[in-house]
Amino acid sequence: MFYTADRAEFAEGTFLPEEQSLIEGAAREIGRLLERMEAGEDRKKLEEQVRRADRLATIGQLAAGVAHELNEPLGNILGFAQLIEKTEGMGEQVGLDLKKIIDAALQGRQIIKNLLLFSRQAPAIRKPLDVNALALECQTLFSARCAKGEIALGLQLADSPALIQADASQLKQVLVNLALNAIQAMPAGGALTLRTSIDEMSGRVVLSVIDTGIGMGEEIRRRIFDPFFTTKDVGEGTGLGLSVVHGIVSAHDGDIHVESEPGRGSTFSIAFPRCRDLTASGECKP
Ligand code: ADP
Repeated sequence: MFYTADRAEFAEGTFLPEEQSLIEGAAREIGRLLERMEAGEDRKKLEEQVRRADRLATIGQLAAGVAHELNEPLGNILGFAQLIEKTEGMGEQVGLDLKKIIDAALQGRQIIKNLLLFSRQAPAIRKPLDVNALALECQTLFSARCAKGEIALGLQLADSPALIQADASQLKQVLVNLALNAIQAMPAGGALTLRTSIDEMSGRVVLSVIDTGIGMGEEIRRRIFDPFFTTKDVGEGTGLGLSVVHGIVSAHDGDIHVESEPGRGSTFSIAFPRCRDLTASGECKP
């Protein structure tokens, strides 16, 4: 606060005591107003988080119910089709048709497995896992595919072992899903980076999958974790990849952070509680 015109300085300073207390009163009011606004924003964010978590949990329960119901008839279709397959003297066309039935049933089973993973109903075996090793494995897995798609695949690993307590096959699924999305987002080539880091402050291990692909706007970003939400053509995507990622990461007490800009690319970062030390029997120290 200041005077717009020059004024003589008072012994007390620039302002008279009455003015001083008026200014302090105004400052207090403004402070309160700002606090209220911040609290309001925090509450809104929290409400949104709860709403989303609620919605995902409900969809998860529903999906798990449907998945269990479908498992049995699908198992029958597969079992009997495989039985018929063993019949001798079957025409060639019948054999081909049968193979289609079996393939479709197997695909259905994979979708069910994904649904159960998403709803955290699949049993997990957690052991200490080095996320650096996981990223390395993923690099090997995708190197040929990236080379074919003109995608430069980079690896930036944390210096020390990035240990977490996790189910190795579920975590691999997370990384594979994220990497596949990244590759699909770069149809004209680009760069895919797998990065691991250790956040000492929060005691978390962070795994990031960074692409320079098509990115996404806010409209899409808000819905990416919803089951069956996809912007891809039939056969390209089922819309379950990120729902599965979300289910697995939450079950591991992790969280996901997404940054994306249309035309520039996306970064998916997932953070897990770090396992600092191992016990003599090779378990994570609590
Ligand atoms: P799917 O890949 O089968 O479509 P996902 O659940 O994995 O299902 O992804 C949902 C949607 O999120 C995708 O269809 C796409 O629109 C968007 N998406 C996911 N990852 C990326 C990415 N790396 N870049 C741009 N869009 C992405």
